[in-house]
Amino acid sequence: MVNQKFDPYINVDPGTMSPYEHGEVFVTNDGAETDLDLGHYERFTDVNLTKASSITMGKIYQEVIEKERRGDYLGRTVQVIPHITNAIKEKIYSFKNRDVDIVITEIGGTVGDIEGLSIIEAIRQVGLENPSEDVIYIHVTLLPYISGSKELKSKPTQHSVKELQSFGIKPDILVCRTEKDISNNLREKIALFCNVRKESVIANKTANCLYEVPLLLEKEGLAYEVCKHLQLEKIESNNIEWEKLNEKIKNISDKVVKIAIVGKYVKLEDSYLSVIESLKHAGIENGVTVKTDLVDAEKITAENVKEKLSAYDGIVVPGGFGNRGIEGKIQTIKYARENNIPFLGICLGMQMAVVEFARDVLGLKDANSEEFDELTKNPVIHIMHDQKEVTNKGGTMRLGAYPCNMKKGSLAEKVYKTHKISERHRHRFEYNNDYKEVMEKNGLIVSGTSPDEKLVEIVELKEHPYFIACQFHPEFKSRPDKPAPLFVGLIKKAKEHSK
Ligand code: GLN
Repeated sequence: MVNQKFDPYINVDPGTMSPYEHGEVFVTNDGAETDLDLGHYERFTDVNLTKASSITMGKIYQEVIEKERRGDYLGRTVQVIPHITNAIKEKIYSFKNRDVDIVITEIGGTVGDIEGLSIIEAIRQVGLENPSEDVIYIHVTLLPYISGSKELKSKPTQHSVKELQSFGIKPDILVCRTEKDISNNLREKIALFCNVRKESVIANKTANCLYEVPLLLEKEGLAYEVCKHLQLEKIESNNIEWEKLNEKIKNISDKVVKIAIVGKYVKLEDSYLSVIESLKHAGIENGVTVKTDLVDAEKITAENVKEKLSAYDGIVVPGGFGNRGIEGKIQTIKYARENNIPFLGICLGMQMAVVEFARDVLGLKDANSEEFDELTKNPVIHIMHDQKEVTNKGGTMRLGAYPCNMKKGSLAEKVYKTHKISERHRHRFEYNNDYKEVMEKNGLIVSGTSPDEKLVEIVELKEHPYFIACQFHPEFKSRPDKPAPLFVGLIKKAKEHSK
């Protein structure tokens, strides 16, 4: 089984977009910069996805136009139907000979959006081209709750189904997002007005914990209905892993561990979605509730850092781009370093930890990353060699999974319980090895590198309960039942700190 997502926008991928547009950019093992939904797919199915799972209309148009320029269309007029729709279908069918039994294709946006129409048309054709038992249409709709009259409204669902039917698609199943239980009457009404069977009206009620949702959908009979339609009757349901996980979640103590995520996109939690989820996973593993706050790095100064952060048991400085908020991140890291606060730096967070150490411990007052000061005399973080000539912004960073070897006896090795790992990356700048000797002499150890030892992947402080920072993004591989080690270590120490 594999998940796939179509996004109707014209960007070739979300890699060049601000997290305020669609939330974080998720990165796959093979280095695709994707919509954050792929992160959810991976966390729920534990399948490592690839570039083939993340398609935008920009990518489709780019491919079709490149073909046109090559002359592949042999003089014909190139049109939305059939050329764009064929290109979309090719992406869905691309899994055909690849040991994949089911493709779950999600279409982003709302039914009726002009920019998504060609995708809707393409999936209509997929239904027509295949035996009816091989294709199922599931429509996710919203049942808004009107608190004034205390009722769920089915009108938006009725309208979007009507719209979908006008495009030639009859949904087989309706998954209804709702804050309240759906009464029997309402279920009957939705079935009648939307032309689906009552058993195919599935409630997707807001859960206390996201990871309860698979069990709730199972109770609603979603898998049963899907399997029946696809004639997969012999498949037996097996939710043992989900049940175990939910048991574990239920038994978490009342103990709350507070973590500050200090970044610049603080108005939208989705900007740091995988980091927040990884912290929750680590909380489940440590048997504590993790409460995260997004703290605005731009508002942190040397004067107020204590006041802003003293309530927290641990601090994460996540990845990022551009110099807004940089000085606040540096003050944050100094505070964590000097006050023994458990700290995890990720990508830009690691780079800033190196800058902070250089400035404050090594006394190199002008130390910086070349990203923010090209002319600094002390570029402790500098542009990667093969990035120097790169001018295009899209898909050109060091992306995807790379191996990392750990130093024997380091905290990194202890936390990962192994000395060889693979983690996902997304960056242009790196630790400058010219400073390695003096940094290590003063206590900031390089504890993880690329196998050829040229690229620094992890640094850590010798004299600190938990101060570790990595060039990669451990949050992209964390799963609810397989939490990322660096987060597990952080929460473990944060739990001790909170005492
Ligand atoms: N901006 C930094 C770089 O390009 C860090 C990137 C990140 O945090 N993902 O190297």
